[in-house]
Amino acid sequence: MRLSKIKLAGFKSFVDPTTIRFPSNLIGVVGPNGCGKSNVIDAVRWVMGESSAKHLRGDSMADVIFNGSSARKPVGTASIELIFDNSDGEAGGQYASFAEISARRVLSRDGTSNYFLNGARCRRKDITGLFLGTGLGPRSYAIIEQGMISRLIEAKPEELRMYLEEAAGISKYKERRRETETRIRHTRENLDRLNDLRDEVEKQIRHLQRQARTAERYREMKAEERRLEAELLVLRLAGLESEEATQKAALGERETGLQAAVAELRRVEAELEAARERHREDSEALNSIQGDYYRIGAEIARLEQASQHARELRQRQGQELEQADQGILDIRQHIDRDADLLADLNRALGTLGPELEAAREAEATSAEALRITEQAMQDWQAGWE
Ligand code: ATP
Ligand code: MG
Repeated sequence: MRLSKIKLAGFKSFVDPTTIRFPSNLIGVVGPNGCGKSNVIDAVRWVMGESSAKHLRGDSMADVIFNGSSARKPVGTASIELIFDNSDGEAGGQYASFAEISARRVLSRDGTSNYFLNGARCRRKDITGLFLGTGLGPRSYAIIEQGMISRLIEAKPEELRMYLEEAAGISKYKERRRETETRIRHTRENLDRLNDLRDEVEKQIRHLQRQARTAERYREMKAEERRLEAELLVLRLAGLESEEATQKAALGERETGLQAAVAELRRVEAELEAARERHREDSEALNSIQGDYYRIGAEIARLEQASQHARELRQRQGQELEQADQGILDIRQHIDRDADLLADLNRALGTLGPELEAAREAEATSAEALRITEQAMQDWQAGWE
């Protein structure tokens, strides 16, 4: 497996997308100080998962993103892609069959860092794991930069051991052993937790068993209770049935009594109606008798009044008769006197011829007066009778 290309974009001084090719095993990069030679090595180490800004010669991780120059504005993301030629199939695991392996890292200014293997997103660990034992890694001996040789020579035994183990290909197995040990530790911890859990569950089971026994006992007692209740209900039913028969008989008797009472009521009502009818008739008779009484009373009063009137009238007529008798006497005396007078007059007539006529006329007048007086007397007579 061999690095064949580096594609840089927005990384340090490589703001424009740049591809550096490594066609053979020996390549030289030549340039003036500060042209960006060391940035190429930083790019490789960065993709391999370097997480220390200091080892990338910066203060913070965002310093790897192109920071702008006098002529250009800063950019938002840095992206590096390493392309390895795997035609010898040296890469292990699932990537063995790939002729080319691409490892890419992208960082944005907000701090999100993503890794890709052959275009598929992956973890940092997947990339370091792939290159473990190959001598390539963020701080492996495959990258020998300025001062590296002197650091190797001056290295402490422990640091040297790391380089040697990596060169001997042991580091991969050491890393795996570390991971396995971690996993075993985790598994032990899990086991302890499971044991705790099992104890807890056993406690719960014992508790539940107690509850189950209680529930079973409750169920049995409940069944007993139901049975007893059923028996009680049967007994009550029998009692109620006999009570019902008694009540029914009493009801029959009461119904008969009720019918008799209703018949009595009808009879009394009929009597009441007849009495009302009689009362009405008697009232009518009373009214009619009272009418007669008042009418007869009025008639008696009227007759008494008429009798009183008749008495008074009779008294008055007696007086008038007496007066009329007196009048007749007076008139007779008048007549006598008139006859005397007439004789005197006749005598005078003989003598007084011209006075005769006058005397005759006086006589006629007197006769007339007599006739009227007689008539009046007859009337009085008739009235008095
Ligand atoms: P020397 O020969 O002195 O070792 P060199 O070729 O290795 O130099 P580098 O150290 O790789 O050069 O590059 C340094 C250059 O990269 C400097 O010009 C610096 O301005 C530039 N540079 C570093 N980081 C950034 C950044 N984030 N944005 C823009 N330019 C950057
Ligand atoms: Mg340099």
